[in-house]
Amino acid sequence: MIFILVINAGSSSVKFSLFRLPEKERVIQGSIERIGTEAARLSWQSGSALPWSVPCPVAETGEAISRIAALLKDKERGGIGSIEEIKAVGHRVVHGGDEIHGPVRVTDQIKELIRRYSELAPLHNPMNLLGIEACGREFAQAVQTAVFDTAFHATMPEHAFLYGLPWELYQDCGIRKYGFHGTSHCYAARIAARHLGRRPEELRIITCHLGNGSSVTAVEKGLSVDTSMGFTPLEGLIMGTRCGDIDPAVIHYLYSRKGLPMSRIYELLNNEGGLLGLAGIGSSDFRDIEAASLAGNSRAGSALRAFFHRVRKYIGAYSAIMGGLDALVFTGGIGENSSTVREAVCLGFEGGGMADACLPGVSLDLEANRSCSGPCAAVHSPESLYPVLVVPADEEAEIASQVEELLRLRA
Ligand code: ADP
Repeated sequence: MIFILVINAGSSSVKFSLFRLPEKERVIQGSIERIGTEAARLSWQSGSALPWSVPCPVAETGEAISRIAALLKDKERGGIGSIEEIKAVGHRVVHGGDEIHGPVRVTDQIKELIRRYSELAPLHNPMNLLGIEACGREFAQAVQTAVFDTAFHATMPEHAFLYGLPWELYQDCGIRKYGFHGTSHCYAARIAARHLGRRPEELRIITCHLGNGSSVTAVEKGLSVDTSMGFTPLEGLIMGTRCGDIDPAVIHYLYSRKGLPMSRIYELLNNEGGLLGLAGIGSSDFRDIEAASLAGNSRAGSALRAFFHRVRKYIGAYSAIMGGLDALVFTGGIGENSSTVREAVCLGFEGGGMADACLPGVSLDLEANRSCSGPCAAVHSPESLYPVLVVPADEEAEIASQVEELLRLRA
């Protein structure tokens, strides 16, 4: 048997999924959350068995990987015969700048590149690297590979990724749009094309990844041609706690007129803005904001409408740059679970302009939209000019596919 292990080492958690080839069936998945605290727990689920969870007070990423390796090596719980059967580990890495265009084998040069881009992803790249180092020790027999969040967007044309700043800032400091969530957008577009029975090369697709972090991507002929996140994941949509697009002059105003230090402003834009800051109910969770709005909280209502408006605006802009649209796809915790959001984005929302301000040509099957499930669900009605699809995010499956392809190519 051959297995691919996918590792996502984040700032306070390590998630893992083990896939058996050639079916790419997920045999076990789980995570260690709250690393570095007494409350850290290891949770996992294999096959159709009930989920399991045990206390696992690990101090750091390397220790967490050792505990995951011990679980996988466990004959009864791990789902594999021997550790030798894990032929590759696919690591999710956040930032590869403009130098990485697809999945890669981890070499000393790749590690150096991940270290170099830590400056632009200080919460993620160092943790991704710790995960790679630890897996190199624990799964020494396996090929270590990396799939970067930025890679899918490496195809963006210059006119989409340039900011209107002095050219030297781009050339000398790398200040440009990079985009994130690439693995999720790539997966959503691929699954949508497969569902439609069309080749990606024939399609113009807009993928909306709406979760705690949110972004919209224009995918033309299977390639990202623009995306809403930018130099960092702060740009674009209104998110859970991130502000998304604002006039940069606000930063100067807060600094020079309100006397806030830069570190405080950065904290405010990243962690105190978005739905959290607008609604002011002490939660950035979309379900809490929806519940507060339904209960009559007007700020929560304003936050939701601002969120919907921004998503609609990006869809309109991306339809325009691609000269039309062949499919609209929703994914991510909010995009795949909230029928209200899909309705508001596609059909308009109260107070959002014209009463029937649908996205041009779109028509939803309201019942299908409310009850959709499965790996790809169509929620549009027959008269819609283009399909509207719901694809549950599965970045791990996409990483496993890319790693399988990479290793087969190089075999
Ligand atoms: P992350 O960006 O951290 O991966 P997710 O993609 O898991 O996050 O999305 C988390 C968001 O999804 C939360 O704001 C949560 O409230 C929202 N969410 C999950 N289920 C629902 C639902 N049924 N309706 C609306 N929002 C939901």
